Amino acid sequence: MAEHESQEFGKADFVLLDSVSLEEFMANLKLRFEKGRIYTYIGEVVVSVNPYRAMNIYGRDTIEQYKGRELYERPPHLFAIADAAYKAMKRRNKDTCIVISGESGAGKTEASKYIMQYIAAITNPGQRAEVERVKNMLLKSNCVLEAFGNAKTNRNDNSSRFGKYMDINFDFKGDPIGGHINNYLLEKSRVIFQQEGERSFHSFYQVLIVLLIHSVPSFSPPQSSINDGADFKAVADAMKVIGFTPDEIQTVYKVLATILHLGNLTFGVDGDTTLIENSKVVAVIGVLLATKEENVGKALLYRTVATGRDVIDKQHTTQEASYGRDALAKAMYERMFCWIVGRINDVIEVKNYDAKVHGKNTVIGVLDIYGFEIFQNNSFEQFCINYCNEKLQQLFIQLVLRQEQEEYQREGIPWKHIDYFNNQIIVDLVELQHKGIFSVLDEACMTVGKVTDEVFLQGLNSKLAKHAHYTSRKLSPTDKSLEFDRDFRIRHYAGDVVYSVVGFIDKNKDTLFQDFKRLLYNSSNPVLKMMWPEGKLSITEVTKRPLTAATLFKNSMIALVENLACKEPYYVRCIKPNDVKSPLLFEYERCRHQVEYLGLLENVRVRRAGFANRQEYPRFLQRYKMISEFTWPNHDLPSDKEAVKRLVQGCGFEHDVAYGKTKVFVRTPRTLFCLEEQRDEM
Ligand code: ATP
Ligand code: MG
Repeated sequence: MAEHESQEFGKADFVLLDSVSLEEFMANLKLRFEKGRIYTYIGEVVVSVNPYRAMNIYGRDTIEQYKGRELYERPPHLFAIADAAYKAMKRRNKDTCIVISGESGAGKTEASKYIMQYIAAITNPGQRAEVERVKNMLLKSNCVLEAFGNAKTNRNDNSSRFGKYMDINFDFKGDPIGGHINNYLLEKSRVIFQQEGERSFHSFYQVLIVLLIHSVPSFSPPQSSINDGADFKAVADAMKVIGFTPDEIQTVYKVLATILHLGNLTFGVDGDTTLIENSKVVAVIGVLLATKEENVGKALLYRTVATGRDVIDKQHTTQEASYGRDALAKAMYERMFCWIVGRINDVIEVKNYDAKVHGKNTVIGVLDIYGFEIFQNNSFEQFCINYCNEKLQQLFIQLVLRQEQEEYQREGIPWKHIDYFNNQIIVDLVELQHKGIFSVLDEACMTVGKVTDEVFLQGLNSKLAKHAHYTSRKLSPTDKSLEFDRDFRIRHYAGDVVYSVVGFIDKNKDTLFQDFKRLLYNSSNPVLKMMWPEGKLSITEVTKRPLTAATLFKNSMIALVENLACKEPYYVRCIKPNDVKSPLLFEYERCRHQVEYLGLLENVRVRRAGFANRQEYPRFLQRYKMISEFTWPNHDLPSDKEAVKRLVQGCGFEHDVAYGKTKVFVRTPRTLFCLEEQRDEM
């Protein structure tokens, strides 16, 4: 018996469980994890449990085993899903995407890298130099993005603090010829504040450690899972390979240094005057930013405002000045990150591809995005992230059901309706024009005068009091989960989350004083200047309010989902087995919760309500022809379809099978088992 069909390692596909219950699902998941089988299917979905140890299953020999094979022929693996996406793209000219989800530390980014490595390994047999170059760039871009977008958190030493979607473009031969990266909502607040035990983005430590090593000969770096010194070199090399110029790389270091110096800057008062207490820092920043010291000082202490026809300099209070300083640090980092992504895109973008000559250029998209988050204290960021997961869940429902439906139609098999929870109502609660939470937030931010987070909460309460998925303390004073008058609760598809409104208004407005934009635009460093084009406008020319953070995020999510919806999707659902990064521990409750909010059981049900298995006639014959005298070793029937019918009749499974145009559909897993058993007995 092939290993992946053996009972000893549990069921390789949850669809094959004897009955679909949470207990059975969990028992199978646990057994497989303990046996070192970290991947399991639900049909074409891969469920993955983070092994927290090096697995010897990603090498060249494994790649060879999966290349060009069908899903069920080999043990479940990321490579199988990558191959399926690749085959669909190559054989059927389909754009495909691989959506990887799961909570922080569940293994999404590692999975996305293995998938990319697999695709790189199986393409370009002709070793064309240009394709090799593109592949190298695509792989190298990960290293750069991780340095600037990842950080050590309490949940993951290498946590992605941004969402990433990467398109890989293929030519008519199926070789990668370029790509494009979209990034979503970088957690820029990390630049100025980190929880106990956490760090800022890796890039800061990489630069600092190199400085220390150079300037303090006796310095030896601390032992940890992160080697900042080695990473610094790898990132610098990767940037060079990708094509960042020495000036660009220097500018990146200067921006990092500026942000570090801003962190040391403090404000005080002298009478009515706000002043900078450590003015030496200002001089250093002036040099780093290639701008005059006094301009830096002025931008930090004053704000230019237009009152009627006059333009005046209004002095900040120390509080405003501190706010401005932090906003500047965050904005500079975020802007630099986006600029880096843009530069990578310039280089990997497909150029000179003539579709008329070569046929359609096809795409595989890989989405590695933050999973559902429930913390002790949930704020604007969690709200955005959880909204993103609602959108993706909605897409999942639509696509998985739609895909099934379409296949049945294509194959001429009647469709049976399947019941499931549709989370569109929660998506609407957040994003609907005028009525949704984002709209209420934007309205509050638009109000003239001092707006508080409480005003926003009142707006929510008055608009959403009747909504089945919304509650606040005011609306439900006895509700124990809502502690404060600043809380509201959303009943997400994945569970209830209580959000504190504190900071929503500020984070949504995301104000950066125009003075800073002008300061950076007027730098004599052309790279820095390029990052801040809107600094070109003088105060009287600035008319439009910038879009709010919520609106920007909502628009980017809608665009993302539209983009994914027109592709053929493949899913990887990642599960984190424990909080202590142990390869041995399967924390049952923790895993159960994830299984629940990833909707995995529902997924199995949907899959089983239809047909557990479907195979093209020739494939089916190839696999089972030895169990029937009519088909072994060859059949003399007019078609493979007829032969399959004969075979199935012979085994007595007629009642459990439907015959499509090109595929045979098997309803229950039991039948498949019997076929497999008979095959083994031959
Ligand atoms: P975040 O949302 O915080 O970015 P993530 O889901 O991207 O989390 P990863 O960074 O991919 O999580 O994984 C966390 C850690 O778990 C890795 O650094 C690695 O140590 C371990 N890990 C994940 N997947 C594997 C794997 N397939 N084999 C071995 N170790 C793994
Ligand atoms: Mg990650």
